[in-house]
Amino acid sequence: MIRFDGRTAIVTGAGNGLGRSHALMLAARGCNVVVNDLGGSVSGEGASVSAAQAVVDEITAKGGKAMAHGANVTKADEVADMVETAIATFGAVDILVNNAGILRDKSFSKMTEEDFRLVLDVHLMGSMICTKAVWDHMKERNYGRIAMTSSSSGLYGNFGQSNYGAAKMGLVGLMNVLQIEGAKYDIRVNTLAPTAHTRMTEGLIPEAALELMTPESVSAGLVYLVSEDAPKRTILAAGAGGYAAAKIYETPGIYLKPEDQTPDKVAEHFERITAPEGQQELTDGSGQTLKFLAYAA
Ligand code: NAD
Repeated sequence: MIRFDGRTAIVTGAGNGLGRSHALMLAARGCNVVVNDLGGSVSGEGASVSAAQAVVDEITAKGGKAMAHGANVTKADEVADMVETAIATFGAVDILVNNAGILRDKSFSKMTEEDFRLVLDVHLMGSMICTKAVWDHMKERNYGRIAMTSSSSGLYGNFGQSNYGAAKMGLVGLMNVLQIEGAKYDIRVNTLAPTAHTRMTEGLIPEAALELMTPESVSAGLVYLVSEDAPKRTILAAGAGGYAAAKIYETPGIYLKPEDQTPDKVAEHFERITAPEGQQELTDGSGQTLKFLAYAA
């Protein structure tokens, strides 16, 4: 059985929905949990620590250990205070679950720059700020488990979510780089792509599917992603009891001689360029450059 005795996790946005469920499941398996939540609405208005405190009360009533913190993940000083308090209370931070998020959906024509920036700020910058706040601490301790929360909206697209989709795919890029930089300190970085019935998906999911789409089914995947034997650099899609890995592949492509390096030749060979046979998952950016240089050699 996967256990977290003696470990401490910060779960952001854990006053509701998926974060709450992650926090409860980690605590039930022996983890000390910092339940972070700003306590705002789905679109990010307002603030109150009562949502986080209610989850802490649930955990402690079941014999678990938890503390609430109302840090806004976009504010580095508030996040620093949360990390300091967590270390003072529990001794260390071993796990960070970047889960906090908001929505400001609009078709791109109607999307304001402000709504675009705000959604990027909470999801992408918020995850960066929280990760930065624990990064050196994890490096010093040679241990860390970090989860980002992406979305099928970012991986594959969803109408009206240009801000959210950009932020959610940005988190995949952040994971890819941090996994490389953190590897030698046993910091493992993974990404969850959940789908669940929460206040965020209210009215978007057909009634019949709601009962299947429990936050707990998603948390089972998330808890594995931050466990001792966690995988690395995995995008785990989870929802309604389904679990799958989302991957980015690159086709072998073709080589064009200098005289053929024209838009017309690219168009002419486009079918072969995009043909999936032999496609590969590359593990760092230089893999692509080396592949192309080998073609040219
Ligand atoms: P939710 O609205 O129920 O919970 C999000 C929580 O984040 C809220 O409690 C909110 O107060 C908190 N939060 C928002 N801004 C914050 C900030 N600046 N600082 C601290 N806390 C903040 O939503 P949810 O469905 O549980 O979503 C959790 C995560 O999963 C989000 O990142 C969301 O984008 C992602 N996600 C959810 C689904 C789904 O189907 N529910 C699908 C894909 C991705």
